[in-house]
Amino acid sequence: MSKHDNLVEKVNNSICNTYGRYPLSIAKAEGSRLYDLEGYEYIDLLSGISVANLGHCREDLAEVMSEQARKLVQVSNLFYQEEQTELAEKLLATCSADKVFYCNSGAEANEAAIKLARRYMRKVKNRDAFEIITLEGSFHGRTLATLTATGQGGPIKDGFDPLPEGFTTVPFGDIKALKKAVTGKTAAIMIEMVQGEGGIRPLEQEYIEAVQSLAKENDILLIADEVQTGLCRTGKWWAHQHYGITPDIFTSAKALANGLPMGAMFASNEAAKGFEPGSHATTFGGGALVSKVASKVIDIMNDEKIAERAAEMGARFTKEASLLVEKHPDKVEGVRGLGLMLGIQLKVDGNEIFKALREKGFILNLTKGTVLRLLPPLTIEFADLKAFLDSLDEILSQN
Ligand code: PLP
Repeated sequence: MSKHDNLVEKVNNSICNTYGRYPLSIAKAEGSRLYDLEGYEYIDLLSGISVANLGHCREDLAEVMSEQARKLVQVSNLFYQEEQTELAEKLLATCSADKVFYCNSGAEANEAAIKLARRYMRKVKNRDAFEIITLEGSFHGRTLATLTATGQGGPIKDGFDPLPEGFTTVPFGDIKALKKAVTGKTAAIMIEMVQGEGGIRPLEQEYIEAVQSLAKENDILLIADEVQTGLCRTGKWWAHQHYGITPDIFTSAKALANGLPMGAMFASNEAAKGFEPGSHATTFGGGALVSKVASKVIDIMNDEKIAERAAEMGARFTKEASLLVEKHPDKVEGVRGLGLMLGIQLKVDGNEIFKALREKGFILNLTKGTVLRLLPPLTIEFADLKAFLDSLDEILSQN
């Protein structure tokens, strides 16, 4: 029995069966490389689903981790801690938000955003407005509220009812439908600038501007879910900055501590009035260790101009990938995305292509069966992206 098969058996015997996993066991990672249990090397074009934006197992982050682990790890939010404010100041300098709330995951950050929007309406605006409008194809997390907010059917929602009330989903990019859905009960509209799990679907500039205007006209809040799009992934600190809008609330997680679990919800001073002591909390939120690591992540992103790098690499990739679209018009429909959040839309079922790419040593994701999704480390060399495109060309030419 191989080491991998042995592990699969152990996992099946001991871990809840909730994940459809790739037939691979990863034992080690470094930069933009993954290594399996047998020692085979792979080019990582997924970054743990947009988590290791700075690459895996960096020496500079490991140093910060080990130093902080010997100083202060976690004491709860009953205490003030310098690490939290140091990080908050750095994060708030990247955007126009005024306040941050720390948590541990994307779902929790969105849960906080939903709770803040509802409480703001009740306590600050004195309005019985609680409804959250989201878009079809969106993904906002797996807690009961965020899975209800998620604009997808299938196993995400199946069997979990009764689901919480107060969520409406409208068709993607359809401003008329959105306008129709806004009522006196609406508290907020929540959108991803580029849908990630939904198959790398960017919203149009015009639509996003119209959403912001609609929110202002109706005095409701605009929430941007930046869990996947944030932290330089799209070529700016936050994807909403491409569109010149200012959400009242936005959320982050994934790449915040480059692999350690951390989430954050950002709010304007006005929206933040919705919370007061006791209204929301989490034991691990903003622990000293994760905060210190996230601080270093922000420093590196600034020092190494990671956003600019992602924008440039993404543009080069899209240009090269467009040649593939021209070369294989029967199999590839197009390439889309922003920065290094990239999707190659296939015209054919992608499962065999995806498998062949893995066998050639490329780790990526297939969404909706037809979208090759790439979320590589933002530090990746272009040669790795080019090697992927060459291999894809080879596979498409054979089939
Ligand atoms: N929101 C978006 C846009 C996401 O892509 C994800 C995860 O993929 C989430 C929320 C949920 O984040 P988490 O898995 O950390 O709870």
